[in-house]
Amino acid sequence: MMKVLVAENRGFCFGVQDAVELALRTASERTRGTVYALGPIIHNPQEVGRLEDAGVNQSTQLDQVPPGSTLLIRSHGVRPEVIEEARRRGLQVVDATCKLVKRAQQIVQELHDDGYQVVMIGDANHPEVMGVVGYADEVIVINSPDEAAQRVPDRARLGVVAQTTHAPEYVAKVVAAIVARPFREVKIVSTLCNEVSRRQSAAVDLCGRVDVMFIIGGLHSANTRQLARLCEEQGVTTWHLETWDQFRPEMVVGKTTAGVAAGTSTPERIVQDFVKRLEQINPASA
Ligand code: SF4
Repeated sequence: MMKVLVAENRGFCFGVQDAVELALRTASERTRGTVYALGPIIHNPQEVGRLEDAGVNQSTQLDQVPPGSTLLIRSHGVRPEVIEEARRRGLQVVDATCKLVKRAQQIVQELHDDGYQVVMIGDANHPEVMGVVGYADEVIVINSPDEAAQRVPDRARLGVVAQTTHAPEYVAKVVAAIVARPFREVKIVSTLCNEVSRRQSAAVDLCGRVDVMFIIGGLHSANTRQLARLCEEQGVTTWHLETWDQFRPEMVVGKTTAGVAAGTSTPERIVQDFVKRLEQINPASA
């Protein structure tokens, strides 16, 4: 039978856990059909399906949510105008923004109010970044040392923050490119969350002890994909699957020990189901 080792740090981070619980609680307290999440609460299709079954509808546009409904803001947060607009449309807002994302939003607002030109290190198309930049005027978003050199104007006072889920080592490289330039004052406030990096370290640690890795989680989840990429870079055969349904016996031919890790949006029940079934596989006859 297959020997299976499971990453110690895996699955839901506290921000996602809180958002899912708040969504389920809200749906159970409201009339069915009146609770909407603005965008998927979580980047995991199976969990989104479970939430829909529990009464959490999904909409990507405010104007499609019927007045009088309840609007759930997901853990990534939104620009402040979105909440104002929702209230203007007669929606009841339930805010599930992760407390670390909220902190980043407040820091950006304070830096701006204190006269700093705010620079955010992050992916401009990521929903968290799109929301955080709404808390100050003209936030410059950069995502590489090259962009730091090219796109940050020579202003006297810079206030720098980063997307919560970025790797500290990468942020350090971009910051180094910023401070290499002659600014009078650069204020760097750490907005990083170590939930993602803890899952990455746990997965990398497993790579040294197994001969095949399974990363379980949404195929569109950025942090789950990053986890799979990191394991591949360790030289271990790595498969990124959403559930056991995508498993094929040929994935473990010639392997004896498998590792299982999961991103911050993967529910534990899906990981446990996968592990239980993988343990039943006999690689010799796969
Ligand atoms: S990864 Fe960190 S910042 Fe993002 S939702 Fe989870 S706890 Fe919050």
